[in-house]
Amino acid sequence: MQQNLILADVRPRDRDRVEELLRAHGIPAASDLPATVRNAMACPALPTCGLAVAEAERAMPALVRDVAAVIDELGLADERISWRMTGCPNGCARPYLGDVGFVGTTLGKYDVFLGGDAGGTRLNQLYAGNVPLGDLVALLRGPLTAYRDERRRGESFGGWCHRRGVATLRDRFGVQLPASLVRLPMVADAAGSPGR
Ligand code: SF4
Repeated sequence: MQQNLILADVRPRDRDRVEELLRAHGIPAASDLPATVRNAMACPALPTCGLAVAEAERAMPALVRDVAAVIDELGLADERISWRMTGCPNGCARPYLGDVGFVGTTLGKYDVFLGGDAGGTRLNQLYAGNVPLGDLVALLRGPLTAYRDERRRGESFGGWCHRRGVATLRDRFGVQLPASLVRLPMVADAAGSPGR
């Protein structure tokens, strides 16, 4: 995941030995991880953060491995898609900038944002509200499949969502937002119009 442990002052000649020791203790090198896992980040949330209303750091590893299985199945394993999860809307893991952001709303439920980018240069937009943790992967299968089939050369998943329009994707995949969320500014779809 994009949360790193820095081992400083390791002599170049000792590097292989250090990597060997890490692997022997179940810590893979970043290059051995699927891109989906490498490009994921979560905030501490429960039980460390007193503001958390949902899990993040403890839920993300299993979630992202389930996502990685779908990504592999769709032939998207080489794409750099950023995944962000937080245990409350404060956004300490920058969920509003990722290709995909999951923001905890209450225990076991998340708002889902689409349309940011891996470089963190564009805000994403609310795609679905209060989605149970166990439904997140199924929710994303439709957009990921369409991205695979319709993307332009070099286009990121977030870039594709942004170009298509997140509101348009909601209509296309039958996602209903709770009425309480429909008027929020983050739901406004600046980019999308049908058929783009
Ligand atoms: S996003 Fe919320 S739950 Fe996560 S560390 Fe920040 S304040 Fe805590």
